[in-house]
Amino acid sequence: MRRINLQKAKNEIARLNTIRDINRQIVLNYVRDRSPISRAEIARQTELHRSTVSVIVDELLADGMIVEIGSGESTGGRKPKLYELRTGVPVAIGVDLTPRTTTIALADLAGNILQKETFSTSPDVEFMTAQILERTRRIAEPFHDQGIEIGMSVPGLVDQRSGKIFHIPYFNWRDWDICKRIEEETGSHVIVENDANATALAELWFGQEKTRKIDTFLMILVGEGVGTGIIFDGQVYRGEMGAGGEFGHMIAGDNAPVECSCGSRECWEAYASEKALVARYKSLLKIDDLKQSNIDIGDLIELAVNGEKHAVESLRETMHYLGNGISNLIVGLSPQIVVVSGKVTKAWDLYKDELQRVSERSVLAGLPQTELLPSTLGESPTLTGAIGLVLARKFGSMS
Ligand SMILES: [Zn+2]
Repeated sequence: MRRINLQKAKNEIARLNTIRDINRQIVLNYVRDRSPISRAEIARQTELHRSTVSVIVDELLADGMIVEIGSGESTGGRKPKLYELRTGVPVAIGVDLTPRTTTIALADLAGNILQKETFSTSPDVEFMTAQILERTRRIAEPFHDQGIEIGMSVPGLVDQRSGKIFHIPYFNWRDWDICKRIEEETGSHVIVENDANATALAELWFGQEKTRKIDTFLMILVGEGVGTGIIFDGQVYRGEMGAGGEFGHMIAGDNAPVECSCGSRECWEAYASEKALVARYKSLLKIDDLKQSNIDIGDLIELAVNGEKHAVESLRETMHYLGNGISNLIVGLSPQIVVVSGKVTKAWDLYKDELQRVSERSVLAGLPQTELLPSTLGESPTLTGAIGLVLARKFGSMS
């Protein structure tokens, strides 16, 4: 039961008039999740009337959301036609800005990437604005008439509702108006989100079966920083002005190996991020001049997987701090699952026992245990997140 908020009561009433829309989304999600599937099977599983399902399936076919892919086994009468999502046709553009690289990709309804280009992220905001505008315009142009939409993931503070990017701490960009500029340039709607929230959304829609089946979990994104996304009741919990879930800045000590993106040496991020891991590794190797040896995080994790002792030690120490923070989140939020995302998950086997131990310690006696899982989203979870911003609007409930 949820309290009816009288300030928003108009929306609640409007929603009663949209039963058709809700049923349409339910049928669409059955096709997405359980295809190939027939009209009769959807009716059986949803307990919607067969004629209702049929009308909706016809609509979805006409809108190009689903396609017929042949016939199934007959259960007596005619062979039933089977349906699945329409793939291979672009519906979304994802713009994924990370501190090192920026990727712009074209994707279909299933989130498959059809075309992709990546370039180095520059600290020069004017240059990046021009690059993103030019490239998204070029990619979006051929599909302009087909209502293609754009999702953008950025490592910073964003108000998702107004589409405003307040701050990108890594480059100290403030009040970046890129979304409005992309909309002007392409004529397509842009949805922007903080990278951790976008990744959490990607886990909800495109993640492993376990996370797709539950409505409440946490996602910890280990990258240059540490981001956290909270999925609560099947949606991203954003807090006021989108500033919720900034657990990367919770205090984890007072002598971290690196500075946090906010400048402090007390934040969890300064203890448990890729930056912290690289700093620990360099100090074990006694490389003082950071410019002398530019160790790539991917190489470092590869070394750890291959058993190089300094790499293993620095990774274990960093993941120990990651575990401490996760433990605090479990104590406070009691999620069913915590998903860890980022390059560090390639070496999951090296530290999963330690993480599991920490999580067991933090669960109160008698409560079910929180499960810790590595993400299955692959190399670029934030890109999947950016695309997911568009797709979640197509598949999510309208309310
Ligand atoms: Zn901080």
